[in-house]
Amino acid sequence: MRKYCEVCGKEVETKVISKEETYVVCGESIEVNAQVLVCAECGEEFYCEELDNATLLHAYNEYRRKHKLLLPEEIRKIREQYNLSQRGFARLLNWGDKTICRYENGAIQDKAHNSLLLFLREPENMRIFLTENEVSLDEKQKKKLLDTVDRLEQDSEFRVGIRLFDHFFSRIPCEENGFKGFDYEKLCAMVLFFANKCTEILKTKLMKLLNYADMVFYKENGISISGLKYVHLPYGPVPDNFDMLIGKMTADHIVHIEVTFDNGYEKHQVIPECEVTSRALSEAEIEVLERVYEKFKDFGSVQISDYSHQEKGYCSTQQGEIISYSYAADIQLS
Ligand SMILES: [Zn+2]
Repeated sequence: MRKYCEVCGKEVETKVISKEETYVVCGESIEVNAQVLVCAECGEEFYCEELDNATLLHAYNEYRRKHKLLLPEEIRKIREQYNLSQRGFARLLNWGDKTICRYENGAIQDKAHNSLLLFLREPENMRIFLTENEVSLDEKQKKKLLDTVDRLEQDSEFRVGIRLFDHFFSRIPCEENGFKGFDYEKLCAMVLFFANKCTEILKTKLMKLLNYADMVFYKENGISISGLKYVHLPYGPVPDNFDMLIGKMTADHIVHIEVTFDNGYEKHQVIPECEVTSRALSEAEIEVLERVYEKFKDFGSVQISDYSHQEKGYCSTQQGEIISYSYAADIQLS
């Protein structure tokens, strides 16, 4: 992109550099690694709305991580688990009508509010909350909510699933998962996105596409999409415990693997069983998935493996090691 530089007094080439910047979030200074557009000749900074927004989002996520605050979509999930509207949930909690709406749209939540939401994530705690507090619901609404709690509690798969996933996939944001707790629904949506878009997709290629999508999204937003950890294996960076996840997705009728033989080689083809549900992915996430798809659509499994072997994150790690999202800064799609 060419721009007019006031310092040089002419139109110049620009480039994006990384630099430490300090943002004030809720009265606290947060250091972030910002991407800044500068004049390639004299280094003068230019304002760039997209980069600036990405840095701000990064700062907000860094603040949330520091204070162990739920992410906006984690709050939405808690609410949706109980089939409540934003306003209905806010009223139940005796908060202002717009409070939940603001939190789900990215406003930083009050710490006491965060604790209550974390507590209510568990259905048994919602039952305690409903029975021990005077809540502003009429009898009919209260019964409906208690029925939902019953269903969630009885749904043993829901409970076992949570325990299993907590064991193998960290729900605590850290550098290894791109500062996002593992999100099975996002993963399913990403897998379905690629599996439906490609006429034929092999498991090995899918794993690379997931890796690029998460890394590129992290590079631009300071958070991954799926919360997966990626590990260095001989054939490239792959999601940690991916076979277990494929097993779960098969049981849930999301996708299944079809094994075929081609010239004596086993091919593991990923077959989608449904479409991506709307709202499963944000616009920004879809935009990154599209870019990754476009970049690699004509690459075979071997080609994309070779390509991913050259990434700094792969070159700098040993076999079996987790590849930190901090290497995402070096990933280039173009
Ligand atoms: Zn200049």
